[in-house]
Amino acid sequence: METKKLTYRIIEEDCPVPVAKARRCFLQAMEFWSEADPRLVFVEADKARSNLTFIWEPHPRHPEKIARCINSGKNHWFLAFDPRNKWAAGAIKRFFGMGDCLRLIAAHEIGHALGLVHSDSTDSVMHPEPINLNLDQRDRRAYESKHG
Ligand SMILES: [Zn+2]
Repeated sequence: METKKLTYRIIEEDCPVPVAKARRCFLQAMEFWSEADPRLVFVEADKARSNLTFIWEPHPRHPEKIARCINSGKNHWFLAFDPRNKWAAGAIKRFFGMGDCLRLIAAHEIGHALGLVHSDSTDSVMHPEPINLNLDQRDRRAYESKHG
């Protein structure tokens, strides 16, 4: 089985929640994808160059967008999260009224970096406003068509 290594960096500047919690959410979001595709391996980059860079930055034009995935060159994506948004970064699974689940939104943005587009299924992590950390059949087919 051929592994697909993706390196990542987590930038702590402007992180609005305790850094260790944000970090755990990002790691759990990456784990979600390595469970979906066991060939995927996420490795923390020791240099400036990485495939995925998690940053805290508001959207410059659309303040209502709490997170985005920006392709910035070959095999590099910024996963940007709005530091002004209310984020839930605790260990519990559901966060009614406690803010947007950082783990869930991070998993959604990583999905974009992996080439997935939005799904209209509320059962999919790729729904524009995801509520479930889950891939449906259509996501899996879309993923497989891109990654074999
Ligand atoms: Zn999206």
